[in-house]
Amino acid sequence: DTPVLRKPDWIRVRAPGSPVWRETKDIVRGNGLVTVCEEAGCPNIGECWSKKHATFMIMGDTCTRACAFCNVRTGLPQALDPDEPQKVAEATAKLGLEHVVVTSVDRDDLADGGAKHMAETIRAIRAATPGTTIEVLTPDFLRKPGALEVVVDARPDVFNHNLETVPSLYLQVRPGARYYHSIRLLDRVKLLDPTIFTKSGIMVGLGEVRNEVLQLMDDLRSADVDFMTIGQYLQPTRKHYPVKEYITPQAFSAYQTIAYAKGFLMVSASPLTRSSYHAGDDFARLKAA
Ligand code: SF4
Ligand code: SF4
Repeated sequence: DTPVLRKPDWIRVRAPGSPVWRETKDIVRGNGLVTVCEEAGCPNIGECWSKKHATFMIMGDTCTRACAFCNVRTGLPQALDPDEPQKVAEATAKLGLEHVVVTSVDRDDLADGGAKHMAETIRAIRAATPGTTIEVLTPDFLRKPGALEVVVDARPDVFNHNLETVPSLYLQVRPGARYYHSIRLLDRVKLLDPTIFTKSGIMVGLGEVRNEVLQLMDDLRSADVDFMTIGQYLQPTRKHYPVKEYITPQAFSAYQTIAYAKGFLMVSASPLTRSSYHAGDDFARLKAA
């Protein structure tokens, strides 16, 4: 049994409960939507929802994969809700989002992995709020030929697909996925449509070593990936993969400096960085630059 490490002082989060947080919650509930903020037990929910930032999780709350770090339930998912693209578009409009992040569970049970549903969601948001920039955080579409092309064709502003961890830990942490498949997926997005920004992220503190992280950065850059996020892994429950190490804020800023030196356009590396944390603010800054 691995002992549970004590959380260091720098992992402090603001408790939810502000009026805007409540309003966000009501809009999410009112539209019958699922958010990754809640499903993943994200530590930033108090802060993000108080600023009306939420990440929608489409295609249900049940995943066909069982990653060792993830709090989303595994099983046979429900049928797709054909109205969901519209519901997400309406919630985006009601929240007045300038930037929306849409992710999904893995749907290995569907012939196209849910690509068409994701593309429809992008199009519905575009139609309802043309000024909103759209970021999708996609599954790996492993063994789903043609799926990636369907999503790219709907032209999201940012195409995000997380590597989650270094290749040596895939078997333990991300079984069912293939590191180089994920790299190739990101590479292919850029080849299909160079106007789409590509993005990827990892968690640290899973037992990786620094040089593996630097190699991973090189792998992402060789696939021409534009943005990178690095955050501390936190164990959702005792049953999940244990935290092996709390990476210090100094080590995070060193990763950030190195990543920028390797040519990423935007890097977020801090203990509480999540794939969608401040995604809108960062993207707006980049566009203004
Ligand atoms: Fe939601 Fe992302 Fe904010 Fe977490 S960081 S609360 S997942 S928007
Ligand atoms: Fe969680 Fe995604 Fe893994 Fe499914 S594929 S278990 S949603 S991390």
